[in-house]
Amino acid sequence: MGSEAVKVVVRCRPLNDREKALSSRSVLSMDLQRCQCFIEKPSAVDEPPKQFTFDGTYFTDQTTEEMYNEIAYALVEGVTEGYNGTIFAYGQTGSGKSFTMQGVTEPASQRGVIPRAFEHIFESIQCAENTKFLVRASYLEIYNEEIRDLLGNDTKQRLELKEHPERGVYVRDLSMHTVHNVGECERIIEQGWRNRAVGYTLMNKDSSRSHSIFTIHLEICNMDAAGHDHLRAGKLNLVDLAGSERQSKTGATGERLREATKINLSLSALGNVISALVDGRSKYIPYRDSKLTRLLQDSLGGNTRTLMIACLSPADNNYEETLSTLRYANRAKSIQNRPRINEDPKDALLREYQEEIKNLRALISGQLGSANLSTLLAGQLSETSADLPSRPQSSTTEAEKEKIKEEYEERLAKLQADYNAEQESKAKLQEDIASLRSSYESKVSNLEKAQASRGSTVPKNDNIKLSAHEEPSSMSSSCEPDLLNLSSAEETSLTKPVVPSAEVGVHKDQRGDGLANTNEIPTAEPLDQKHVLERLQQLEQEVVGGEQAKNKELWQKHRQRRNLADQRKVQLLRALSENSEESENVLFNVYNSIQEEVHAKSQVLVKVQGKLKAAKLEIRDLQAEFEVERNDYLATIRRLEKEGQLLNSLLERMVPLVRRDCNYSNLDRLKREAVWDEDNAAWRLPDVMVQKTTLPSAVHPKSSAGRGSATECGEAFMQMEEDRYKEMLDRSDSENIASSYFKSKRTSQLLGGDTAKGHGKTRIW
Ligand code: ADP
Ligand code: MG
Repeated sequence: MGSEAVKVVVRCRPLNDREKALSSRSVLSMDLQRCQCFIEKPSAVDEPPKQFTFDGTYFTDQTTEEMYNEIAYALVEGVTEGYNGTIFAYGQTGSGKSFTMQGVTEPASQRGVIPRAFEHIFESIQCAENTKFLVRASYLEIYNEEIRDLLGNDTKQRLELKEHPERGVYVRDLSMHTVHNVGECERIIEQGWRNRAVGYTLMNKDSSRSHSIFTIHLEICNMDAAGHDHLRAGKLNLVDLAGSERQSKTGATGERLREATKINLSLSALGNVISALVDGRSKYIPYRDSKLTRLLQDSLGGNTRTLMIACLSPADNNYEETLSTLRYANRAKSIQNRPRINEDPKDALLREYQEEIKNLRALISGQLGSANLSTLLAGQLSETSADLPSRPQSSTTEAEKEKIKEEYEERLAKLQADYNAEQESKAKLQEDIASLRSSYESKVSNLEKAQASRGSTVPKNDNIKLSAHEEPSSMSSSCEPDLLNLSSAEETSLTKPVVPSAEVGVHKDQRGDGLANTNEIPTAEPLDQKHVLERLQQLEQEVVGGEQAKNKELWQKHRQRRNLADQRKVQLLRALSENSEESENVLFNVYNSIQEEVHAKSQVLVKVQGKLKAAKLEIRDLQAEFEVERNDYLATIRRLEKEGQLLNSLLERMVPLVRRDCNYSNLDRLKREAVWDEDNAAWRLPDVMVQKTTLPSAVHPKSSAGRGSATECGEAFMQMEEDRYKEMLDRSDSENIASSYFKSKRTSQLLGGDTAKGHGKTRIW
């Protein structure tokens, strides 16, 4: 299994209005060809700038589109082949992480990585031949070390992390949403964005204080030439991290400081994981230190291709944060991952679907005959849709229907071509398609009504066939009609008025298949035919793929982008190797004269001396920064110690107030019994128990056998007395040794020598 390094690119945003108003200076510069980034120290202009080399550098004028095509494209394409991929944006608040990941709609070149990724994935899916995909999405947020489902019914609910021997780390109860097209993806991501907790800091009031992970899960079923199916699974994580700045700078206090501490906890855990991985010597990688690192475990040193986009602010007053981001990013370059294609995933839903489809087909074709089944499911079955048997209808109706269908198909094909040429006007076209579809449907149903009134027989489930015929003949007839993939969920539901359970659109359920509750095995009763067919249709509509396989234009566009990404990769490799080989060439070159050699070598010497100076300065700066960081940590330790002391003092005062017969009166024992719960990062404390001791009755039995209330009074009195005795005992315990010497005797006297009898445990809650 080959390993490959985490790819790291840096992106610098322009100076913002506030920085311009403050006449901030830019301290960053870049050599785009050589992928180098330089940063000057504002207070030391005579020092050479610090230099970093990455897998890509994007300055203020570069767009997200360029970045995506050059570096992200290959990674996302890999996901459609069965690799896992992760893209994460790192940087201080206000440096452009969300701008890069979510982006803006205008200009189109600055649309974010997330919308581009799912557009790309659906383009690949539609162009794929002999391949079907099941696409599901999930979106979560980590806020104050708590995981919340941004697409769940209750976005406030805290979710738990779990570990499974085969599935690895996963979030329990995270909702999964089956998506069939870009529109559905856009809708759910917008829903998630709205739910994100947005905080406020002095640096950027719109910035989010949480980490968010949007994941696209793909299951891929490819049929080889021999007709055998091959299953694979790929997963793409798109991560927008919270700001990486130090708390002191943001002016955070109180609750916000607590929040910032936790955000930093995740990020410093991420930093520690990166350091441990890069170090190579440490066997222990502290993934478990935070929720973020546990979730990203596979993306850092595991089975995933990872791209880190480090976002930078160019302003001189952000120098320290920018430098820290550059160092962080520079370290991440050395992480080695081991990506591999995920063949034959064990828990693939797609396999379950296929099995069920096979069974349902066998079941129903036994009853109807395969030709009839094909007729009923024509639109779904690629092999049989071409030669559908004609139905017993009057020839005039049939001819009229054919005419309408042809008209419809012609116009549809035209609309389809327009769509490909002009993605921007998609929304409008979708409207056209929907209205065209509904007019077609109304015409057909009018015809049918007329036909029915004339007394002709219309076969059952005819409407299924009708929807099947909607598919334009010019396109691949492999799976669901192409329209379904282009139209929105609302429009889609219009096309299937007779299949109430087969709601296409955003399916929402914990298992993520949207079909979880409908898997009762249908029997071969004729009555169930309708249900079986519905279920079959429903299942077949869950998967997508190959709808545009015959669309040359789209296919070529797809190819071109792929080639561009490949070319860029070659360029990058060349640039990077040039960077490292330059000085070596000087040493091994053959020179015509000694002067030439001296000249060349002294030039190299000057360069190397410059590097040495830079390295020395770097050491000095690093030491100064470590000192600052150390002081920061020491201050945190002192603060925590003070907090701990306060809590201890409070406890010391409070413990004597707790009843002695309650287990919470013994702190040492409690500490021994408390268990650290790794999954929830919390202590599990023992339940509160009271050990009840019934003393022999001090009053004569006769007198206690009175009325109810008197008995209760007596008991309460006894309890108080009992408590008083015990308190006295305890006090004497700490007061003098002599009394503690006699304590056992006094206790047994008081308790009448039969303490064991009256013991009983009572649970308070
Ligand atoms: P973050 O998510 O890192 O806190 P944002 O993405 O919200 O930061 O960016 C902060 C501001 O800077 C936003 O107003 C955004 O529009 C702007 N911005 C960030 N990057 C760029 C860029 N490359 N070009 C233009 N504006 C940018
Ligand atoms: Mg943000």
